[in-house]
Amino acid sequence: MLIKSIFLDRDGVINKELDYLHKIDMFEFIEGIFDACKYYQSLKYKIIIVTNQSGISRGLYTESDYQKLTQWMLGQFRRNNIKILDIFHCPHSPSARCGCRKPNPGMFFQAEAKHNIDMTKSWMIGDKEADIKAANLAGINNTILVRSGHKIEENNSNAMIILDSIVQSKEIIKT
Ligand SMILES: [Zn+2]
Repeated sequence: MLIKSIFLDRDGVINKELDYLHKIDMFEFIEGIFDACKYYQSLKYKIIIVTNQSGISRGLYTESDYQKLTQWMLGQFRRNNIKILDIFHCPHSPSARCGCRKPNPGMFFQAEAKHNIDMTKSWMIGDKEADIKAANLAGINNTILVRSGHKIEENNSNAMIILDSIVQSKEIIKT
């Protein structure tokens, strides 16, 4: 049995974008994120987070800092009755030329293999064109670019849909 998934980027989609965010007291959820996630769960989607965290390789924060923030964030989701199925992160810098840093699709392939995901029924929501490209390379055509994070070039986007924030995705994702 294959599952369908909503893939979420973290910074700019789940929380307000801050360069190299790694402190809990700097982390601010995007308004409506929990409602949106509850809605996806009601449609039987499993939520997976895929996030580039090159700050680790750049020495700006440690893997342990990242894990601490992640555990806290997952706790906040749990308190709101939201289960995050899995979270994948790429710690590498662009110069490492790894396969997992978006726009490469490595994290999506890891998720697909681990959780038996039907990519054709899944969605990606990101705030960068790299999120859209990575998803497309992994066979996800349902893509949403949001304006709540990095500045986006709407005319040069391959995203299927562009929205102000994840809140409006409830109007798009219906089944
Ligand atoms: Zn990587």
